[in-house]
Amino acid sequence: MLTLKFGGTSVGNADAIAQTASVISQTKVSDPRVVVVTSAMSGVTDMLVHSARAAAAGQRQPYLDAREALFEKHMAAARQLLASAEELREYEQYIEEQVRFFARLCSSIHVLGELTPRGLDVVSGLGERMSAPLLAAALRTRGESAAWVDATEIIVTDDHFGEAAPLLVPTCARVQSRLIPMLDSGITPIVTGFIGATENGIPTTLGRGGSDFSAAILGSCLDADEVQIWTDVNGILTADPRIVPEARTLRQLSYNEAAELAYFGAKVVHPKTMLPAVERNIPIRILNTFDPDGPSTLITNQPVRNGLVKAISAIRDLTLMNVEGRGMMGVPGIAARTFRAVADVKANVLMISQASSEQSICFVVPSRRSDQVQRALEKEFEREIALHDIDRVRPVHHVAIIAVVGSGMRGTPGIAGRLFSALGDAGVNVIALAQGSSESNISMVVARNDLETAVRAIHRAFFQNKRIPTPQLV
Ligand code: ASP
Ligand code: MG
Repeated sequence: MLTLKFGGTSVGNADAIAQTASVISQTKVSDPRVVVVTSAMSGVTDMLVHSARAAAAGQRQPYLDAREALFEKHMAAARQLLASAEELREYEQYIEEQVRFFARLCSSIHVLGELTPRGLDVVSGLGERMSAPLLAAALRTRGESAAWVDATEIIVTDDHFGEAAPLLVPTCARVQSRLIPMLDSGITPIVTGFIGATENGIPTTLGRGGSDFSAAILGSCLDADEVQIWTDVNGILTADPRIVPEARTLRQLSYNEAAELAYFGAKVVHPKTMLPAVERNIPIRILNTFDPDGPSTLITNQPVRNGLVKAISAIRDLTLMNVEGRGMMGVPGIAARTFRAVADVKANVLMISQASSEQSICFVVPSRRSDQVQRALEKEFEREIALHDIDRVRPVHHVAIIAVVGSGMRGTPGIAGRLFSALGDAGVNVIALAQGSSESNISMVVARNDLETAVRAIHRAFFQNKRIPTPQLV
């Protein structure tokens, strides 16, 4: 039994949906028991969210335009995809109802002048309810037996609107009683990703990009052999191909490595969304809808070839904050106060490093929060700054973090050496450095302008050097 999730670009237009339908048919040749999860057509969720926000801010035009655009986008695809006049008429009627409902919701939001998280979930979840019936109908046009399922009827969540958490016990009960009979009678369920509902039936969403989460939840409840995430790239690459054209697909990765990569900005599945699958040891495979026979990445609980660098990723738009001063040495509590002040302004800290001389603490925050963080620290240490125990709070703007990810790197001598000679040879200055205690990443801060050079130099050193064994690459 397999769970297949298709992202927004995989159902982005008629051609993509036709391709997705063909991938589903192909998959069913080797395993007829397939549960499909679909995202909204690409761009639709953004359009819905934008319309609702604009309505709350007093603007009607965006949702009026969106109503037309949503109808046209779905119907244009349907006209091209659906062979039967009856299917087309039914779908048209259904979409007409959905966009009317959407406009009514936005009109209420406009009248109230207020958008609650609960209201936003109703609006933003409409995209999947429009794409799933279309994909099911496209499959029927191919002669497959398929029916769409509204996840608000099977995925039960708490009421944390906008980022609801699934309640696995009631969810699994409903998933099994609803989907297993469908599979038994040869019907492929096409389930809406991203959405669920509370026990009382109030619609919720699982957070942006939540369709991966839906797939992992269904896979877990149905004890799938594999959860497949079908996207528009060939799995997870050794680096961002826009920076490193030679980047290659990683054939296999551990859950941990995938989580580290996601944390450091690589476009992979979010660790939280993998969890239901990870807990049941279900492998996750990332594949390309538009290159189904091309290379893909398998993520399992098995660390593969420990001690090797697997991939490089980077986060941009960051600021390094330094709290510096000779009077900090041996004074307990400076670090605690620093991070309490940062937490109070709710800024996310991406990396921390303290020199053992204790004369400075430095950490990285998103640039858009750096002014606020600086002010909070100057206020917290007002007295120490007056007494010159702390010289200053010094931001270094325009930096990036580069993370080198791979299991068990700490136990492998020579990795850091190779890393820093590569950067030294390329003339890149490393501003700060941290090795994760997880052993699976080394992260460093470099000037934003050095980012591309640094990533290329590291990639060359670890992946394009023939003398050194590389992980299982294409
Ligand atoms: N359509 C939703 C979003 O854009 C969920 C998803 O695509 O996974 O966030
Ligand atoms: Mg998406």
